[in-house]
Amino acid sequence: MRNYVLDMTDNQFKTAAKSIIDKDYRLDQVTKWIYEKKMSSFENFINLPKGLRKKFAERFLLRILKIVNKEKSIIDDTIRYTFRTLDKKYFFAVFLSTNGRNSVCVSSQIGCPVMCAFCHSGKVKFTRNLSRGEIIEQIFQIENDTGKRISGVLFMGMGEPMLNFNNTVFVLDFLLSSKKFGISKRHITVSSVGIVPAVKKLADKNFGIRLVLSLHSVDEKLRRRLILNNLGFGIEEILNAGKYYIKKTNSRLTIEYTLIEGVNDSTADAHKFARLLKRHGLINSNVNVNLIPFNSLANEEFRVPGYESIQKFRDILKFSRVTVNIRQGKGVDVNAACGQLGY
Ligand code: SF4
Repeated sequence: MRNYVLDMTDNQFKTAAKSIIDKDYRLDQVTKWIYEKKMSSFENFINLPKGLRKKFAERFLLRILKIVNKEKSIIDDTIRYTFRTLDKKYFFAVFLSTNGRNSVCVSSQIGCPVMCAFCHSGKVKFTRNLSRGEIIEQIFQIENDTGKRISGVLFMGMGEPMLNFNNTVFVLDFLLSSKKFGISKRHITVSSVGIVPAVKKLADKNFGIRLVLSLHSVDEKLRRRLILNNLGFGIEEILNAGKYYIKKTNSRLTIEYTLIEGVNDSTADAHKFARLLKRHGLINSNVNVNLIPFNSLANEEFRVPGYESIQKFRDILKFSRVTVNIRQGKGVDVNAACGQLGY
């Protein structure tokens, strides 16, 4: 059986490759083709003898995902990719281009065990975690397909990255390594509904990447209705984990809140939100709140809030000195925005 290179640690690859290389410096050459030039076939490793290329191809796999669909937004050029895995499972990744920065929003799982009521990924039955290679390959393939250098990665696609912790951490190491991908920590974002022990473990790793905690409600009962399987973590402990993250990593925290008409978008909700942040000492320059107007698909049980109620909600937070932005969905016309990544 062939080994999938992107799933392997450096040592695993070195050990396996040593049995077929003729000279030690070949390893460096091969590594450069894989990670710097991001070649998808050993055929293209042109400074290696043909026989050696063949041996590598017989022993290793460089790509295992297939792009089976691609839809480009006519509004903002966002591209929604559908990938198929070797075991014939389907998931999505999104290419985004904002202010000259090209980013990929990656999936970390197939389906999502958290099952947020307003999210189409949550409606896809959780099948399995994506492997570390399958997460990295989304970025490689999209970079290759678009011909644009990727300099930002968001773990905001299908799945909860903190429930695929070890693979997420492996990929973060990979992305930050200057010898592998070399993305600035400020341009990597991990989003979580607040899997408290994992968020704390991530803080202890001190990668310095941006963390987004999705709150969606400041009322426990409503939050449990919106996030069906939040694994029992309450709002207070999630915010405490956020504070721990800021303290440990000295990086910024974003709190995300999907606004749904008549569900969590009242002025009373906004005031309660501001009071909660104040009580936790989370109104400061290290914290910002992203308000995401619910992105609707057909036949939804939820509705998009009106322009005025979004503005009002924002203004109440602003008045309390919260740094707050309204984040408009990208790629809405091709179902590529937050909460739209489903079948
Ligand atoms: S919002 Fe995130 S955590 Fe919730 S179901 Fe969708 S992908 Fe999963």
